[in-house]
Amino acid sequence: MTTKSRLLVIVTFMLLALTAATIINISLNFRDYSINSAVEKSQMAANIVKDGLTAHMVNGIMDKRQYFLDKIATSNNIKSLWIARGEKVISQYGEGLSSETMRDAIDEEVLKTGESVKKITENTKNTILRVTIPYKASTPVDNTNCISCHNVNRGDTLGIISMEFDISDMRSSGMMTILKILGINLLFIIVVLLLINYFVTPYMNLFTNLQDGIRKAYRGDFTHKFISKVGGDAKSVVEQMNSLFTKMQETFGDIKYNLATFIPQGSVSLSDPLHEAKTIISELSDIYKFKKTIELDGSKDEVYTRIVDILKLKYHVGHFAFYEVNNVTSERKLIYSTDEENICFEKTNKNALECRAFRTNTVTISTEFPNLCQACVSLNLDYVCIPFNINHDISLTVSMTSGNREEVDLMKKNISSIRHYLEAAKPVIESQILMGKLRDTSLRDGMTGLYNRRFLEEVIDKIMSQANRNKETYSVLMLDVDFFKMVNDTYGHDVGDKVIVALAKVLKSSIRESDLAIRYGGEEFVILLSNATDEGTMQVANKIHSGFAALSFDVGSSETLKKTISIGISKFPTDGDTIWKCIKYADTALYEAKNTGRNKIVEFHADMYKSGDEF
Ligand code: GH3
Ligand code: MG
Ligand code: MG
Repeated sequence: MTTKSRLLVIVTFMLLALTAATIINISLNFRDYSINSAVEKSQMAANIVKDGLTAHMVNGIMDKRQYFLDKIATSNNIKSLWIARGEKVISQYGEGLSSETMRDAIDEEVLKTGESVKKITENTKNTILRVTIPYKASTPVDNTNCISCHNVNRGDTLGIISMEFDISDMRSSGMMTILKILGINLLFIIVVLLLINYFVTPYMNLFTNLQDGIRKAYRGDFTHKFISKVGGDAKSVVEQMNSLFTKMQETFGDIKYNLATFIPQGSVSLSDPLHEAKTIISELSDIYKFKKTIELDGSKDEVYTRIVDILKLKYHVGHFAFYEVNNVTSERKLIYSTDEENICFEKTNKNALECRAFRTNTVTISTEFPNLCQACVSLNLDYVCIPFNINHDISLTVSMTSGNREEVDLMKKNISSIRHYLEAAKPVIESQILMGKLRDTSLRDGMTGLYNRRFLEEVIDKIMSQANRNKETYSVLMLDVDFFKMVNDTYGHDVGDKVIVALAKVLKSSIRESDLAIRYGGEEFVILLSNATDEGTMQVANKIHSGFAALSFDVGSSETLKKTISIGISKFPTDGDTIWKCIKYADTALYEAKNTGRNKIVEFHADMYKSGDEF
């Protein structure tokens, strides 16, 4: 029920209640008034009868009394009028006329008690008022003296006068009055309702209009125009609402536009733009915090760790693998995996082109087409794989797996959001790659590709503390080409460079990945062999020594050049408690090798160390 209908019902109900109360009140009063006036009339008629009968008696015309009584009855609209004699009068004057006898118990009672009785008898047809009044011997105060004619005492009841009045008219006129009041009141109610309707309708329309507008606004639609046919305060409310909505519409337009520029693709789409804005802003805020954090990260690997954390903690992905793919070589490197084994580990890592997500650069979802990715075909798991290109060289792949359809649906829902994070990380990863390259350039020797002395200076403390912590050992090899100056002098610098590059190759091929080869100076190299035994160290030294000695360098005019190297060896921490000291000791051993004929490998002994050679 609308508010207006409710108001009209309430007003109608109140007015009807008022009408009913008025009618009840009036009808009760009207009845009392009608009865009272009939009683008064009967009293008057009784007095007339009493005085008339007294006059008849005094004048000795009592035989004419019936005519008098009939006249009184007809002229006063009395239905029936009769008198009855009391015992004393009967005993003095006889029974009287036949009509002058007691007709009922009321007559008898009034004769006995001397008290008036009035009674109303109502039936469906008419209403009768019965009044019986005693006729008492009068007092000397009046001019008549009843006692002079009657053998009675003063105050005795001589007889009674009974009258019946038909007061049915009173009832019908009462009904008429009530009907008139009812009619007037109903008319009044109708007028009031029409007036209420006339004056309230515009307010109710305004109210409905406001409700419509607010309902639309709740859904984020601020295009509603408020209209009012009422002036005054209502008009100013409408104007204020319209200007507020215009402002909101403009502001939301701007916010949506600006948010769309923040979130490049696949922005959250909900039916409620307010909620959409809130969701986007909260997502932007999270991404902003993420971006601020990774900007302070020191390496690409740290950024990758943050992405892994986001997948785990924000998106609660239970099983996933995160890969870095070399776009040029199609080699894939596993950065992180929640599981020991994943659906497309080793197999695809050698050739990432087997990964459909990488190959097609599109999100690959197994629930859309079965056996979509041939690399994952053997496993009974669903997967959502998101490829993401960082730059020309590198791209990332997030491969999420699950055996639960609901979980997969959630993964699908989060794809664009996860991509927002990757998008935010992209410039940071790019700059970390660039920084890495620059750093690598400054830490590597351009000619041989080996690390340079600066690299050694930077990492040596880290290597040493790690070695101390893990009880690791390092064998330090110091190498120098014998009589190298001669090569330059005889065949030129280009040939000299060739010899250096060839030696570097021998070094690279002779050591393990965990070992380090450093171009320490011109044609001097340092090698750090981690956790190598004495025999192992000597084996590597011999391999390098013989490997280089076996090389022949083409120096033109069918002449070939062969060179040798000398190697000095020391052990960390057996020979020295720092690697720098061991480098120095290896240099001492190399010096020993040079001094004792070159082309040899010499291990450091404490007696080679001359006192005063401090570091
Ligand atoms: P020794 O057996 O005592 O080591 O004699 P050596 O002639 O090899 O003497 P030394 O090791 O002192 O000689 C180093 C020479 O290496 C000096 C320098 O001209 C040359 N050299 C240093 N760096 C380079 C380089 O990058 N290219 C070339 N071609 N020569 C270099
Ligand atoms: Mg040298
Ligand atoms: Mg040399």
